[in-house]
Amino acid sequence: MVQNRKIMDLKVFITHRNATCSECGEELGTHAWITLLENKGALCLSCADLDHLIFLTSGNAALTRRASKYSTLSAVVLMWSRTRERYERQGLLVESQALEKAEQECLADSDVRARRREREAARRAEQDQDYIERFAGRVRELFPGCPAGRETIIAEHACMKYSNRVGRSATAKKLDAEAVELAVIAHIRHAETSYDTLLAKGYERWEARNQVKEAVNRRLADWKRAGKL
Ligand SMILES: [Zn+2]
Repeated sequence: MVQNRKIMDLKVFITHRNATCSECGEELGTHAWITLLENKGALCLSCADLDHLIFLTSGNAALTRRASKYSTLSAVVLMWSRTRERYERQGLLVESQALEKAEQECLADSDVRARRREREAARRAEQDQDYIERFAGRVRELFPGCPAGRETIIAEHACMKYSNRVGRSATAKKLDAEAVELAVIAHIRHAETSYDTLLAKGYERWEARNQVKEAVNRRLADWKRAGKL
């Protein structure tokens, strides 16, 4: 039962050794951001379904507290300190809407606008604008019933460099229908179902995916149809 599950503190580790994702097999190198599963080794954030979260560095206690409060799914980011011989908290991974809401509440802080500009510049640098537009166009073409603006959100996320699974794969580069659909499914799961809530409650990914499968398929079918619901 969902209600009876204990809320888990999801943890993301910045590795100090070489890491390989046990699911997609990607060589992550050192200083990769990973999650650890019991008996399953390391997972990259893409395979762990945490790559839609935004990193909020430690240091602004009010912002961190608010962002954490508004984020359905969040994860503590930890790194091993050789000098202190313990894991130290680097910050928090949170949902972008949660961070925006938290920032609005913290607008009294004079540095918020500057920080937002920095973040947006960094985000733009990561993205290939032309490719995003083509990807978004393809989403709109294949899913005419998808709400306005979602195609861009889906394309931006799918195209981020660290999202190595769907957006940057060779098939996605050709804007293959199946690859685009994978990106749309990932978005629906996070944005339109209780998937993130289930993960936050400690569900395994396969359990959570089973729970939301029907809801995802229904929404996918709606979006494939032209016109509104
Ligand atoms: Zn992976």
